[in-house]
Amino acid sequence: MLNLVLFGPPGAGKGTQSDLIVEKYNLIHISTGDLLRAEIKAQTELGTIAAAKIEKGELVSDDIVIGMIKNKLAANLNAKGFIFDGFPRTTAQAEALDVLLKEVNMSVSCMLSLEVETPELLKRLLERGKVSGRADDQDESIIMNRMAAYNSSTLPVKEYYKAQGKQFEIQGVGSIQEIFESICAVVAP
Ligand code: ADP
Repeated sequence: MLNLVLFGPPGAGKGTQSDLIVEKYNLIHISTGDLLRAEIKAQTELGTIAAAKIEKGELVSDDIVIGMIKNKLAANLNAKGFIFDGFPRTTAQAEALDVLLKEVNMSVSCMLSLEVETPELLKRLLERGKVSGRADDQDESIIMNRMAAYNSSTLPVKEYYKAQGKQFEIQGVGSIQEIFESICAVVAP
């Protein structure tokens, strides 16, 4: 079982690298951002609650995202493994993930942290906003709120995995292929 956590600030390239990792290692991709956007699109009650947070660049509540992860795990118990993209984003989410995986005799194999400086992230997100249509990528003040949420709530997750000896830093600047190769070197040395 290979269970990877792909970690990094907004715009670090988690989605791009996830696609390559999924293809190579045959994992189920779980992106809480994608799951939340699907709920918003389907106009569910959960989607409405999430949208109010996402529009401001704030994190959605732990209960909501943990519930979504629980459902996804339960629906894919025969998977070869998972890649968690954009989750966990708080220490409480990291703890919940450990509990959920343990219930099915699994654990996080390693956490890959994509390292990219803020000015480069801002540039990438504004570029992405032009093509993705995502409102949270088009407004600099929303992006800065997301960065602030990352620094205050999400960065501690790095320490959580560091304490478990599972954290690996990956240089997130370079070609997509170069970054992917750095990831593969950690996952299957
Ligand atoms: P990015 O990594 O570029 O910010 P995502 O698609 O992962 O994009 O997330 C978009 C938004 O969805 C976040 O700004 C946040 O509001 C919400 N979100 C996604 N994942 C989580 C999570 N695990 N916990 C709380 N909020 C989340």
